[in-house]
Amino acid sequence: MSKVLIIGAGGVGSVVVHKCAQVPEGFSEIHLASRTKSKCDAIASSVKERTGVEVSTSQVDADDVAQVVALLREVKPDLLLNVALPYQDLPLMDACLEAGVNYLDTANYEPPDEAKFEYKWQWAYQERFKEAGLMALLGSGFDPGVTNVYCAHAQKHHFDEIHELDIIDCNAGDHGQAFATNFNPEINIREITQRGRYWERGEWVETDPLAWSMDYEFPEGIGHKKCYLMYHEELESLVMHLKGLKRARFWMTFGEQYLTHLRVLEGIGMTSIKPVNYNGQMIQPLQFLKAVLPEPGSLGPLTQGRTCIGCVMKGTKDGQEKKLYVYNICSHEAAYEEVGSQAISYTTGVPAMIGAMMMLTGKWSGTGVFHMEQMDPDPFMDALNRHGLPWTEVEL
Ligand code: NDP
Repeated sequence: MSKVLIIGAGGVGSVVVHKCAQVPEGFSEIHLASRTKSKCDAIASSVKERTGVEVSTSQVDADDVAQVVALLREVKPDLLLNVALPYQDLPLMDACLEAGVNYLDTANYEPPDEAKFEYKWQWAYQERFKEAGLMALLGSGFDPGVTNVYCAHAQKHHFDEIHELDIIDCNAGDHGQAFATNFNPEINIREITQRGRYWERGEWVETDPLAWSMDYEFPEGIGHKKCYLMYHEELESLVMHLKGLKRARFWMTFGEQYLTHLRVLEGIGMTSIKPVNYNGQMIQPLQFLKAVLPEPGSLGPLTQGRTCIGCVMKGTKDGQEKKLYVYNICSHEAAYEEVGSQAISYTTGVPAMIGAMMMLTGKWSGTGVFHMEQMDPDPFMDALNRHGLPWTEVEL
């Protein structure tokens, strides 16, 4: 038995469902539920056409614990795979506890009325998941997710201690739009406009938003790109779990056109989450902006180029200094051809499917709340090579 209930029929959800359907030996039954049932049905019919696999669907409001518990009792899955939005993490974890179902997500909880993400809210579920004999796996996307597993792999096979970590996320793709985000615009813009933060010698150091940059030469012909220092959620757990770590930073590439649009939108208040009165109705400028921006899912046929996400790690092995780069390169066009989505959704959806497979097959198990780097990286790294996200490692 390996029945999965996937919640969230967006860009990432679509990839997860397609990828689960490609592995019938890992997923005996797939059920997809989301706020808008027609989106679930559209994904189910694409999956049926591409793989012949039937996906059952339903409508659910994931903020409503009672509704989700009722759905869990009806569907009786072995795992709830959450690819709705970070706001739904806590209600979905509550529902899992009530219905006795294991849980997996790809992004940490964020309160809707404050642009802030931290693991403390989900770590607070540790004892309850333990007592219930259930497992919650947090952040099984690419970053967080695969990047955490790359670190665990490097710690297990290449280093006695990792001293410096730079996670570098490059999207060298182009969708031809003036301004669009590659995953949910609201979540993406909340993340990018936050103050930067990195970890050094046991302390968090803050920077102004996107104030620090570096030039990096990406491999395999991607070439030279400018990357900006940002705070990213996997840093919070990695600094706890990597032995001997002295510095950890996260970098992301942005084009000049994207940054110029972002600055203008910020400057005129369109990225604010503070509600304003418009014709007697309270609206949040950022939510309105999301409504007029292209849906990330619609970028699939338009996006060309590749992503390159990886970890550069410096440390010691047998007393010698060592520097290692582990990365994946993913083609937007190839992802679109395979599952009808661009590479950002693909690089998140594939690891969500693999994380689910690790839990359902018992390769990863435990009771309580876990991060990816706490698990054995070997079966996950092996599955990445088999399911569309092969990795490369080079000593620098
Ligand atoms: P989308 O906005 O495309 O999809 C989100 C889906 O969740 C939508 O279908 C939406 O429904 C549904 N949803 C929202 N609220 C509810 C609710 N209350 N009840 C039921 N369904 C709801 O986002 P993405 O697919 O781009 O992102 C999905 C998740 O993946 C996000 O949490 C994001 O942060 C995470 N992510 C993680 C990455 C990683 O590497 N770890 C990278 C990229 C994304 P509707 O369509 O009706 O609005």
